[in-house]
Amino acid sequence: MTRPDIRPYFPALDRRQMLALGGAALAAAALPGCAAPFTNPVSGLARAAEAHYRDSLARLRRRVARPDGTEVAESGTGVLGSSPDGLAAARNARPGRPDFDVLIVGSGYGGAVCAARLAAERRPGVRIGLLERGREWAPGTFPAQLTTFNPFSHRPSWVGEQLSRNPLGLYGFYDRGDVVVVAGSGLGGSSLINCAVVIEAEEAVFQQAAWPAPLRDKKVLRPYYLRARRMLAARSTPEDRFPPKLRTHLGTAAALRARGAWNAVAYPVELAVTFSARANGQGVRQQGCVQCGDCTTGCNVGAKNSLDLNYLPLAWTHGTEMFAQVEVEHVDMVDGLYRVHYLHRPNGGRAEERGQVTAKILILAAGTLGTTEILLRSRQRRGLVLSDSLGHGFSANGNYLGFVDYQFAEPEVITDAAGVGIANGAPPAPVGTTIQGAIDFRQPGRPLARRVVVEDLAHPSAHVPGLSLLMLADLNRSLTLLGCGHDTAAGEIRLDDDGIRVRWPDYDRQPSHAELMGLMREYASAKGGRFKPFTPARNYTAHPLGGCRMGATVADGVVDDRGRVFDPSPRAGAGAVHPGLYVVDGSIVPTALGNNPLLTITALAERAADLIVRDPAHAALFSTTDAPPPPDRRQSP
Ligand SMILES: Cc1cc2nc3c(=O)[nH]c(=O)nc-3n(C[C@H](O)[C@H](O)[C@H](O)COP(=O)(O)OP(=O)(O)OC[C@H]3O[C@@H](n4cnc5c(N)ncnc54)[C@H](O)[C@@H]3O)c2cc1C
Ligand code: SF4
Repeated sequence: MTRPDIRPYFPALDRRQMLALGGAALAAAALPGCAAPFTNPVSGLARAAEAHYRDSLARLRRRVARPDGTEVAESGTGVLGSSPDGLAAARNARPGRPDFDVLIVGSGYGGAVCAARLAAERRPGVRIGLLERGREWAPGTFPAQLTTFNPFSHRPSWVGEQLSRNPLGLYGFYDRGDVVVVAGSGLGGSSLINCAVVIEAEEAVFQQAAWPAPLRDKKVLRPYYLRARRMLAARSTPEDRFPPKLRTHLGTAAALRARGAWNAVAYPVELAVTFSARANGQGVRQQGCVQCGDCTTGCNVGAKNSLDLNYLPLAWTHGTEMFAQVEVEHVDMVDGLYRVHYLHRPNGGRAEERGQVTAKILILAAGTLGTTEILLRSRQRRGLVLSDSLGHGFSANGNYLGFVDYQFAEPEVITDAAGVGIANGAPPAPVGTTIQGAIDFRQPGRPLARRVVVEDLAHPSAHVPGLSLLMLADLNRSLTLLGCGHDTAAGEIRLDDDGIRVRWPDYDRQPSHAELMGLMREYASAKGGRFKPFTPARNYTAHPLGGCRMGATVADGVVDDRGRVFDPSPRAGAGAVHPGLYVVDGSIVPTALGNNPLLTITALAERAADLIVRDPAHAALFSTTDAPPPPDRRQSP
C-alpha cells in the first residue's frame, strides 16, 4: 500500500515570492487561532482511513465488459481508477463498434450518479467509461499542509502564473472574471472538498418560468431526492456533539428571534458525514467524524461521505472503467458517434499525451464551468451545432460571504472556528464540520430575493494562517458566514484565448446580496460582534450553476429537462436533440437554488440516469423496461 507522491509546489516560486510568503506565514502563525500550519498530517487516524479505504476497495468484486464483448470477473485492487493504458488500448479495439458504448466526462455528483446507475442496468458486454481531469485521492492522503496544498488553475491566477503548472491539484480556481469560481478537481469532483451540506430546494424554486414544465412541480423530483439522500447517508450532527460555533450560530438566531427581530428557523443541517464508524452500503469502511474542521481540504478521516466512498465504488462494482488524469478538450461527431479528444497527464502531470476515443452515448458532467467550456470549444473549433443559450444563465447561487469579529464582544464569544486537522490525532476540543447550522429565511410570502439561508463556516487548518492574516482576526473568536440566495442568473461564461471567465459586472448589486449583508449585520450585533464583508475585493462562489441550462426549447435552453442536448440545425427539425448527447451536472440548473446545491444536482442526475436507462432508444444497452420504477427500486442499502 503506497502513499501517492504529493509534489511540493513551492519550488516554482521565485526568491522574492518565497520570502513574502514565508513572512506572511510567520506573521500569521503568531496570531491566535492558528493551528500549526506546517505540521505533518500523517497521523494514526489518517493511516487508518487510508487503510480502511484501500482494503475495502480491494474486497470489491465486479464484472466488466472486455473489448471483445465478453464479461470478465475482477477483484478490487484498492483503487478505483483503471490503468491509463486501458484508455489508449480502447481506441479501435472493437471494430465496427464505438470504443465505449457510454462515456461519462467528470466524476462529481452528475457523473458519479450516471456512472453508478447506468452501469447497474447495463447489458452484458456494454462498455462504460468515465474520464476525470483530476487525480485519484484516498482518505488520509489529502494535503492538509500549506506546503503541499496545491491549488489548481488552468490559467494565470491571483496567486501567480505558477499555479497553472499544477493541473492535477485538488482545487479549481477560475478567477479571471467578475465572479471567482471555486470547484474541486479529482475522482469524486467537488465532493472531495465541499462542506457536505445536504438540503432540498424549496417548491417555489421549481415554479419559476425558467424551469422546464416537467420539473415545475417538485413532486417529480421527490423520489430522486430520497434516493440521493439515502445514498449520501445524510444526517445532522448529534445534539451531544454540537461544537461552540454551531451553538453560537443557533444561539444568535434564537436571540434575534426572542427580540422579535427575526422570524427565521434555525437548525442543524443534514450532512453527508458519518458520525460513528461503520461499513457503508457499498462496503467501504469509514471512521466517525472527529470534528477537525478540515472538510474543505479533503477529509483525512474518511468520515465525509464523498463520492469516492459511495456512488463511485458502486459504479466500479457494476463495471464502469474510470480513468483519472484525463482532461477532455473538445468533442466532435464522426459516423454518428461522439469523438472525444482528450489530454492524458500521466506521471504526476509531468507528461502530456493526446488521444481520442469514440462513444455512442456521451454524458458531459464536468461541472458548470468544465462542461460549458467543453461545449463552447466544441462549437467554436469543431462546429458542433448548439443553442445560442450556451454559456448564458450563469448563477452564483447568490453566494455571499460575511465575517463577524467577536474580538471586543462582552461577554466573550468563543467560536473555535479555526480548523485544527488531525495532525495531532483527534482534536481534544471539537471545531465541527465546516458547516453545521442553517438560519433559514425561505418562508412562503417572502419575496424570492429575500429567501436566503445563512450558515456558519469553519476554515480548514491549512487556510487558517493566511486567513487570520487577511482578516486580521482570531478565527476562534470570529465566525465566517456563508449566505445562499436567489441571484438573477444573468452571468455569462465566455471562452477566449486564455480559457473561460464569468462575465457579470453587476453581480454584487444583486438584491439578495443587500438582503444577506443586512441580515449579517444584525447577526453580528446580536452578540456584540463587528461585521465586515469576507472578501471585499472580489465576488466568490462555490456553487456555480447554469451555462448549459435546461429549457423547453432550443430558444431558451441548451438541454431539455432530461439533459438531452438540443440540436438547432435547420435540418434537424423543431425540438430535435443530438442523439445520445447529454449534460448532467450543475450547469443544467436554470436558476439559483437559494440553498446549497449538491442534493438537487444529485436528484436531477438520478432522474436523468433513470430516464436514460428506460429510454427505448437505448434498449440495446440497458436491461430496464420502460415502466416507471417505484421510487426506491434500485436504492442501495
Ligand atoms: C469548497 C466547496 C464547498 C461546497 N460545499 C457544499 C455543500 O456543503 N453543500 C452543497 O450542496 N454544495 C456544496 N458545494 C457545491 C457542490 O459541491 C457542487 O455544486 C457540486 O459538486 C457540483 O456537482 P457537479 O457534478 O456539477 O460538478 P463537480 O462536483 O464540480 O464535478 C465536476 C468534475 O469534472 C471534472 N472536470 C472538469 N473539467 C473536465 C474536463 N475537461 N475533462 C474531464 N473532467 C473534467 C472536475 O475535475 C470535477 O471532478 C461546495 C463546493 C465547494 C467548491
Ligand atoms: S470535520 Fe474532519 S473528520 Fe469530520 S468530516 Fe470534516 S474533515 Fe472529516
